[in-house]
Amino acid sequence: MPELPEVEVVRAGLTREVVGREIGAVSVRHPRSIRRFQGGPVQFESALIGRTLRGAHRRGKYLWLPLSDGQALLGHLGMSGQLLVAAPPSPEGPHLRVLIGFADQGPDLRFVDQRTFGGLWVEPAGAGPDQLPTSLAHIARDPLDPLFDEKLFISRLRRRRTEIKRALLDQTLISGVGNIYADEALWRVGMHGGRATARLPVAKASELVAAIRDVMIEALTQGGTSFDSLYVHVNGDSGYFSRSLNAYGRTDLPCSRCGTPMRREAFMNRSSFSCPVCQPRPRKPAAARTRGT
Ligand SMILES: [Zn+2]
Repeated sequence: MPELPEVEVVRAGLTREVVGREIGAVSVRHPRSIRRFQGGPVQFESALIGRTLRGAHRRGKYLWLPLSDGQALLGHLGMSGQLLVAAPPSPEGPHLRVLIGFADQGPDLRFVDQRTFGGLWVEPAGAGPDQLPTSLAHIARDPLDPLFDEKLFISRLRRRRTEIKRALLDQTLISGVGNIYADEALWRVGMHGGRATARLPVAKASELVAAIRDVMIEALTQGGTSFDSLYVHVNGDSGYFSRSLNAYGRTDLPCSRCGTPMRREAFMNRSSFSCPVCQPRPRKPAAARTRGT
C-alpha cells in the first residue's frame, strides 16, 4: 500500500509534470474509480475538460489539484493506485482506470489501479494549500507538514483512551502513518504499540513524533532517488524502502539492536512486528475495558 512518503513523491512529480497544463480530453475506463464523484463518467469528464491544473497539494495520503474554475481534482491511491505520466502512444495496460489528456498534446496522466480501492473525484476547493476541499477537512496534518503542531498532537494523543499504535493510525489525530511506519517508529523508540496513550510521558511522545518523521524522511529520500522523471509513480509493492526496515515483516529475524528474534502479533486484521526485549508488552492492555483484541 502506498504510504505517505510515496504519495509525497507523487505530489512532487505532479507539480513538475502536469501543473500549469490545460486538460484536453478525459476518458473514464472504470466507473468504480470515480465512485466518490457526485455524477457519472460524462459529468466527470466535462468537469475537467478545458480546466487548467493550478497546483498539486497533499493532506495525509490524499492529493488535490486545484482547477482554474474553483473546483479541484482529488485523488487517493488506495491499495494499488498509481498516477503515471506517459507520452502517447505508450501501451495502456490492463489496469488503466482514468486517462487524462492535455491540450498541449504532451504526456498524459494515467490513473492505474489494479484493485480499484483508490479513486479520483472533483469537488469545490480553493486554490491555496490551506483551502481544503470539504471531504478532506477531517484529515489531520502529517508530521512532514510544515504546519504540523506537535504540542497539539501530543495533548490530543494523551487525552485519548486507547493504545498508541491505534492512535497513530487514526487519520483524524495524525495522518499518513501507515502500519509500516508505525512499527518502524515504535521500534526506534523501544515502545510496544499496545501501551496506553493516556500514560505516555510527553517527552516519550515527542521522541516518537521525531522517530516517525525520521522514518518518513528516510523513505522519502530513498523514494526520491529512484524516481524516474517520466513516471509519477507509486508502486504498491515497491522494495526501495524494504532494505532499511528494522521491524516490519521481520518475524523471527534478529532484532537489529539486541539480536532477539522479532515477534509478530495480530493487530486490527493486520500484523504488528516488534522486539520482545526492546519493546516489552504493557502489563495491562489499554483497551481491555472496551474490547479485547
Ligand atoms: Zn531488540
